[in-house]
Amino acid sequence: MGLTRDIKRYLKKNLDQGRYQHTLNVRKTARKLARRHLRFGSREERKAYLKKVSLAALLHDIDKQQDTGELWQRLKAEPDVRQGELKSSREIWHAFTAAITAREVFGIADQDVLNAVRYHTTGRDGMSDLEKIIYLADYIEPGRHFNGVEELRRAARQGLDRGIQAALEHSIEHLQKKGARISEYTLEARKDIAEHGIF
Ligand code: FE
Ligand code: FE
Repeated sequence: MGLTRDIKRYLKKNLDQGRYQHTLNVRKTARKLARRHLRFGSREERKAYLKKVSLAALLHDIDKQQDTGELWQRLKAEPDVRQGELKSSREIWHAFTAAITAREVFGIADQDVLNAVRYHTTGRDGMSDLEKIIYLADYIEPGRHFNGVEELRRAARQGLDRGIQAALEHSIEHLQKKGARISEYTLEARKDIAEHGIF
């Protein structure tokens, strides 16, 4: 597993101990969610999918502790992102640059993995299973302690769409209380799940 080893080495260099542990927790929770909620045609298919889950989890916060000025410099040139969206919330920059780092530093070409990394903070319209899994795992991994987290964990055990819906609601409510801006991506994700979610 050369790639995993290389990513871990990079993470240890660029993240503090707490954030590194969070990353490992996300990987564990994400794999659990995938095993619980997804059906695979064969053992090989399952193994290949779980590998994607692990990769996306390991990479999701890879730029979390980079200087924000630097993050912005890198984002400005990204054609895949809505610049207007980004300007107003720094919180989401690390997710969008992490997808660039994944591609450029680690040669990740799997678009599903890159999207799971890119949208792990905001969600978006039309999320794949992998995107939902990473978003949710990031929210409910065992190191998370906030009011309502147990309810979200319960929802996530019932189904991916149930979990993601509860997590999106929680996130929106939390941002509203803080008076923070809510990303269009997040509002679109909520609408999409409400309309097309499988409950
Ligand atoms: Fe993050
Ligand atoms: Fe995270």
